Amino acid sequence: MKHVQLMIKPASSNCNLRCSYCFYEDECKNREVHSYGFMKDEVLEAVVRKALEAAEISCTFGFQGGEPTLAGLDFYRKFIAYTKQYKKPGTRLQFCLQTNGTLLDEEWADFLQENHFLVGISLDGTREIHDRNRRDGKGKETFGRILKNAKILQKKGVEVNILCVLTRQSAKKITSIYQYLKKEGFYYHQYIPCLDPLGEKQGQHPWSLTPEVYQRALQDLFDLWFEDIRSGAMVSVREFDNWLCVLKGYQPEACAQTGRCSMQNIVEANGDIFPCDFYVLDEHRIGNIADEEFQFFEGVLKEKPFFQEGMKRGAGCKDCKWYPLCRGGCKRDYAEEENYFCPAYKGFFTYAIERMEWLAKVMR
Ligand code: SF4
Ligand code: SF4
Repeated sequence: MKHVQLMIKPASSNCNLRCSYCFYEDECKNREVHSYGFMKDEVLEAVVRKALEAAEISCTFGFQGGEPTLAGLDFYRKFIAYTKQYKKPGTRLQFCLQTNGTLLDEEWADFLQENHFLVGISLDGTREIHDRNRRDGKGKETFGRILKNAKILQKKGVEVNILCVLTRQSAKKITSIYQYLKKEGFYYHQYIPCLDPLGEKQGQHPWSLTPEVYQRALQDLFDLWFEDIRSGAMVSVREFDNWLCVLKGYQPEACAQTGRCSMQNIVEANGDIFPCDFYVLDEHRIGNIADEEFQFFEGVLKEKPFFQEGMKRGAGCKDCKWYPLCRGGCKRDYAEEENYFCPAYKGFFTYAIERMEWLAKVMR
């Protein structure tokens, strides 16, 4: 296999924060084992060995949670040692860490910089918005700690991107969030719609994002971003980057924008493998790293229901003029027959398509 991509959960669902909308906490309540504890050394070694045996050209190791830094810095030092032991000459490696950022410090920053980790920090924009939903186990605010630690990373030259969860409230403040992040020197952004609990009708919680609010937020964000790009500023908004990629005729990197679910190789702390971070559920378990026959793979496993369901689109997608660009979005947004955010996509594309097409032409 040319490229292997995997996402490791070294601390399973363990986390030092209690974010009100945590999708992983919700998933874990829907499976038999809430937390698989911390990844043991032999599991880590098997994961790295099998991934690097399968990878021919490149391999991306991501770490996520729960909170992956709870596994401790020594876990990551061992990880790097295993990659050096098992890497074939010529295989390119990429390392990513998605963290709440509360436990980072100078020592972590040195390690992440030396090993060229790309670090995603979950920070919901401004202090007021962030602290409303992202508190620690004692109910304390976390914004100040995270910003301080993100600054340490910036100072040391670690590549940082900011992941903002869009709730009904924060989406309405997208302008101040975008401007604030830029003011603090963050130029790589992701804005992820907050997930409603599994299997529930969407839009029922106080934080739930609605299609109307999402559309408005996409439009406002696009206006700001477009002006920045046009004036030569370098700001990356992952969702827009992916749509531009599609318009230029390339494959987007976000699976939700490819028209089907594809294998994300999520590795839980006990070595169990699942197809997608949004479906780390017993019924979707694919195998365990310790199984003799287990191999990492990419694409789709056609016989697995997860991937069959992941090919389904809404009835309206078939004749939708936006399908070549939208491709129906993410399976998690299909609690009902159509994608919950479909009206937001249609409205947004209508609003922004001329400028998007212009950018696709002029940007290399
Ligand atoms: S459920 Fe969504 S995130 Fe998961 S593989 Fe499918 S499209 Fe991707
Ligand atoms: S805009 Fe709606 S109908 Fe059109 S492709 Fe996207 S989800 Fe499907």
